[in-house]
Amino acid sequence: MESTVASKLEALAKLQSIDSQLDEIKRVRGDLPEEVQDLEDEIEGYEVRVRKFDDEVAGLNESIAQRKQAIKDSESLIRKYEEQQQNVRNNREYDAITKEIELQKLEIQISEKKIKEAHYQIDQKKTEIEGTKHRLDERRKDLENKQKELEQIVAESQEEERKLEDDREKAAGNIEPRLLSAYSRIRKNVRNGLAVVSVKRDACGGCFNTVPPQRQADIAAQKKIIVCEHCGRILAGVELRVF
Ligand SMILES: [Zn+2]
Repeated sequence: MESTVASKLEALAKLQSIDSQLDEIKRVRGDLPEEVQDLEDEIEGYEVRVRKFDDEVAGLNESIAQRKQAIKDSESLIRKYEEQQQNVRNNREYDAITKEIELQKLEIQISEKKIKEAHYQIDQKKTEIEGTKHRLDERRKDLENKQKELEQIVAESQEEERKLEDDREKAAGNIEPRLLSAYSRIRKNVRNGLAVVSVKRDACGGCFNTVPPQRQADIAAQKKIIVCEHCGRILAGVELRVF
């Protein structure tokens, strides 16, 4: 099959156009799964935090219960000591028991202080939990929306993607293997996936470096395939200046 440079360039430009559309589908789809994943991670973080708060509150409630029991124990000890004081044989015994009673009263004071502190901590943690739970609810709603969006986009683009894949196969079939592999190599090496560009405003449409007038004339003449001397992209044509 004999084909002119012009028809080769036309076939390359067509392939590029199809590949760019496929790139766009993948780009749009490529962001969403990541966003969904990010939201799932964020939600998991909040859930861990809520569980940790709940555990801490449970621990504080337990220590309150222990302190309350300690107070009861101290009170019954004090009652016991006071009874013993009725039956002492001397001042020394009386003073010793008084000391014990004072000690238990001090224990009660400490426990009461600790209980007060624990209640304060619980109140603070409950406020924190409420804030986190609120954010958690919001993120769960966001996730639900994103998941729906993703499902919809995948469903919508699947058909378009299949059609483009068919078109691509046909378009690639019109290009000689050596040129096709050069095209693929260039595409792999450039950031925006553009292997075939035109000259726009005296510059390469891929890297935006200036293309000299003589070179532009050669490109426009389409006698041979010319690549950009800066980025290696195939320069398929020269766009007319619009004044
Ligand atoms: Zn270039």
